Amino acid sequence: MKHVEPAGSTPLLEIKDLTVSFASRAGTATVVQGISLVVERNQTVGIVGESGSGKSMTSLAIMGLLPAKAATTGSIKLQGQEILGSPERHLHKLRGERMAMVFQDPLSSLNPYYTVGKQIAEAYKAHRGGSLRAAQAVAIDAMGRVGISDPKRRVDNYPHQFSGGMRQRIMIAMAMCCEPDLLIADEPTTALDVTVQAQILDLMSQLQAESGTGMVFITHDLAVVSQVSQRVLVMNKGHVVENGTTEDVFSNPRDPYTQALLDAIP
Ligand code: ADP
Ligand code: MG
Repeated sequence: MKHVEPAGSTPLLEIKDLTVSFASRAGTATVVQGISLVVERNQTVGIVGESGSGKSMTSLAIMGLLPAKAATTGSIKLQGQEILGSPERHLHKLRGERMAMVFQDPLSSLNPYYTVGKQIAEAYKAHRGGSLRAAQAVAIDAMGRVGISDPKRRVDNYPHQFSGGMRQRIMIAMAMCCEPDLLIADEPTTALDVTVQAQILDLMSQLQAESGTGMVFITHDLAVVSQVSQRVLVMNKGHVVENGTTEDVFSNPRDPYTQALLDAIP
């Protein structure tokens, strides 16, 4: 059964004053410096910032997947349940039942030796249970929904038999077939050319409209974020320098850094 929150209750995701730091002999580097954000169901919040600004560390913190040596303060609550400091068993369950993640490079997440159908089916079975046969049917359906033609035949293909854009569709199929409440997309279109990027963004918006999933959409490209997000956070060197509706941030940026990013959009 899918977890359903009663209307008007706690937010889907609420981050308060999150810091992430790494200690080394050279001193402590704080790479996320006190960020706060809220994501509701059916909403996409974009996180924008150049390379090294702490976007991926934020997304890994939400998934409970930070490297062991990372120290954190603050709180990250998924439907009211604390992620930071939670035992791995609990995190594993939350990830399986309520969260999914799509990364920049699908090849780093797909196993080259297994068919994509097997990988989607295995992911579904691990998260949702049921028989392998039912999971295989889900895999075919999920591939069709992300726009892969002849999915019945294509489930038996291997990752290398798909283009980069198609592999990213497969990753989205794998994430969405588990019906997550929250999807974290960390630069999902960065490696794709512009036309394919637009198709993937459309697909993600369409799937969200169908499922009501809340989304954190991470990118270094402010133009991309405007297409999918209702709210935008701009990060610079670990700090949030802007947090508002997409419209507000675009029409009335408060920080010079955001202004510079906006000026760079062709
Ligand atoms: P972004 O995703 O915005 O490009 P990241 O969140 O990956 O940035 O990284 C933020 C900062 O954290 C960077 O300066 C990076 O060098 C640092 N960092 C990432 N991983 C580690 C680690 N394992 N140990 C120490 N510093 C790290
Ligand atoms: Mg990153």
